Amino acid sequence: MESNRFPGLLPRSPSARCGTVIHRIIEAAAKKKINEEDDFEEYWNRCIMIEEKEMADSWIERHLVPLKKSTPKYELKKYQCLLAIRSMFNKTRSHAAYDIINKISREIWLETQNKVVGGLVDAIISTKTGDIIVDYKTGSITKLIGNHEAVQEIYKIQLQLYAAIYNSAFGIWPVSLQIAGIDGISYEIDFNQKECINLLNEAYHIATEINYVVADETNLGEMNDLLSSPSPETCRYCLYRPACQSYLERREISPPAEWPKDIIGTLYEKKILGNGLILIRVVANNNNLDMITIRGLHPGRHPALNFESDKIAIFSMVSDNSPNNFKEGILTTIYIRR
Ligand code: SF4
Repeated sequence: MESNRFPGLLPRSPSARCGTVIHRIIEAAAKKKINEEDDFEEYWNRCIMIEEKEMADSWIERHLVPLKKSTPKYELKKYQCLLAIRSMFNKTRSHAAYDIINKISREIWLETQNKVVGGLVDAIISTKTGDIIVDYKTGSITKLIGNHEAVQEIYKIQLQLYAAIYNSAFGIWPVSLQIAGIDGISYEIDFNQKECINLLNEAYHIATEINYVVADETNLGEMNDLLSSPSPETCRYCLYRPACQSYLERREISPPAEWPKDIIGTLYEKKILGNGLILIRVVANNNNLDMITIRGLHPGRHPALNFESDKIAIFSMVSDNSPNNFKEGILTTIYIRR
């Protein structure tokens, strides 16, 4: 659905919106659309306005406007973005940098010779010793694994795949793979050519399977079952969970702890509390038929609660004291179900 530009059914987080703004500004600075640091404030406000306009037009996101209030550490993110472009300008002015860097190419589409696998690389830095592939991230790059911080596995796989695609396209390997954070810290990703080729072969295999299923004219529901592979990790940030039957079915049969905090069930009770907020009780469609309580729901945010329907689905709740008690969070969204 995302590749068809189908609008998300759940809100994008304000941090993700801010990340889009930061990416846009870094790209503009790289393309010299922002000439000096003085343009930063104006450009930032313009990009924020574009995001907020889109949010205001969406019933699931309009309560998150303005981003200044809804984004955690908004001012810090803005300042880090300013530091990032300041450092870009300084590097451009530095003669020393030009001595080792022949050329920096931004936003390069790389694809394998057979055009089956491709990806948009943030930057390729050509040096005297070879090319460095760089990907910029505005969110957290590392994750606590055991008792030490390590670069997240999905980012390593992404960069290793870029290396293999680069090799397929040009017949040589990059000399380095790097992930750069908005805080100015870069992480070098180790890679081994054989592992990169294995990853690319796996990507070819997946692409062939997808094309086979699509060409088979299977109906949409069956296609969804065949192509989706729900898991807590892959579905957590997916904005299409409300429409994904595979996800809804899979989470019913596996333990709930790791899955996103969503409930699908039957509305048992709805009451408006003294503070004007709504409390609902829902009997969950799980094997135990648990009774779930969700409080703190703002009436204006949830039109689904105005409909006479007992089938209901609540997404992105926030835990509240005990296992079956939840409350509304900034991303909580409710749909009625048939
Ligand atoms: S399987 Fe998960 S990630 Fe894939 S579409 Fe369904 S909910 Fe989204």
